[in-house]
Amino acid sequence: MMLLKPEMCPYCGEKRLEELQPTEVVIDDMLWTIYHYECQFCSEVFDKIVPEGEMKYDIFSEGFDAETDEDDGEKRFNN
Ligand SMILES: [Zn+2]
Repeated sequence: MMLLKPEMCPYCGEKRLEELQPTEVVIDDMLWTIYHYECQFCSEVFDKIVPEGEMKYDIFSEGFDAETDEDDGEKRFNN
């Protein structure tokens, strides 16, 4: 498991970090959560990007069986 919260500021090494409102983005059906941290010591802001996993689309799991295109009708022969 990855640590969701970094232990210290990458700029000054202090551990006084304020977690800001995270941003969620979807890239290629993958949900990424971007966590923003602000160091309370040097006021630097840095991000940590965590892949949450694939987006699940349950609507695609049903409905494909309803319409089958059977080719038992008129057949055409071209001479
Ligand atoms: Zn810092």
